[in-house]
Amino acid sequence: MARYVCTLLSETALSAAQKESWLALAKSLSITITSTRALSDRAEDYTITLPPTLEFSELKAAANPICLENHVDICLQPDNKYRKGKRLVVFDMDSTLIRQEVIDMIAAYADVEDQVSAITSLAMNGKIDFNESLRRRASLLEGVPSTVFESLKSKIEITPGAKELCKILKREGYTLAVLSGGFIPLANWLKGQLDLDYAFANTLEISEDGSALTGKVLGDIVNAERKAHLLRQIAEEKSIELHESLAVGDGANDLVMMKTAGYGIAFNAKPIVQEKAPARLNTPSLQDILYILGYTLEEQTALLR
Ligand SMILES: [Mg+2]
Repeated sequence: MARYVCTLLSETALSAAQKESWLALAKSLSITITSTRALSDRAEDYTITLPPTLEFSELKAAANPICLENHVDICLQPDNKYRKGKRLVVFDMDSTLIRQEVIDMIAAYADVEDQVSAITSLAMNGKIDFNESLRRRASLLEGVPSTVFESLKSKIEITPGAKELCKILKREGYTLAVLSGGFIPLANWLKGQLDLDYAFANTLEISEDGSALTGKVLGDIVNAERKAHLLRQIAEEKSIELHESLAVGDGANDLVMMKTAGYGIAFNAKPIVQEKAPARLNTPSLQDILYILGYTLEEQTALLR
């Protein structure tokens, strides 16, 4: 019988009510809990088997409202060697590894915020696709000094827990990449900050004299499909199987890479993304991903020394 692991995760210590909400769900669906393990006072693992009549997708759908009502994340995945035995993690950048959206920061810098947010809302309402919205937003940046990225670096806030997470994963031998629909100067900078192995993002053309942005985007646009393609490319280059990979992001354009990877985590994502992603994490710290990968707090602390 297939075994799964359910990780219960909360921003503060798990309450009796949070645990009870999960246990009541498990009982109502005739799920057998074969073992439990505390990863910390905020995270617990339950090894489970499902009755033959219950599909894994049904369990996942039934867990969604429990998560919302009880402010708890219920992460479900097969209990096999790939859970802790992953070797590659790919991250989205904006609102995932960093707290801001870089396009909004550039728009504020160039004083074109209203125009940029009008295009963003067209894209969000499905009126234009990602490539078109990126080209239109980039065109508003024509004439912006090419030093813009340099001056934004000091304003970027790296997400809490990102440094600790990446440090531990590197020590564990993981390959790490940022795959961003944003811009390469900042993705490369972040790669240095977090000691990542790869950075892929979009390139904005610079004028011949090097002084300003031309408003044009160069090369392949990093959109949802391209992110999934880059994940496959890195995996192949490093001889890593796709089920040994994890994708983390917050946007709808991260869902394809999440489905391509062995596992996907929606980090403080929009409700629709949380619903469609393999797993959700709604605590403030990216380090909590390590609980989902099966590391106890003790193991995490030892790896940070
Ligand atoms: Mg994002």
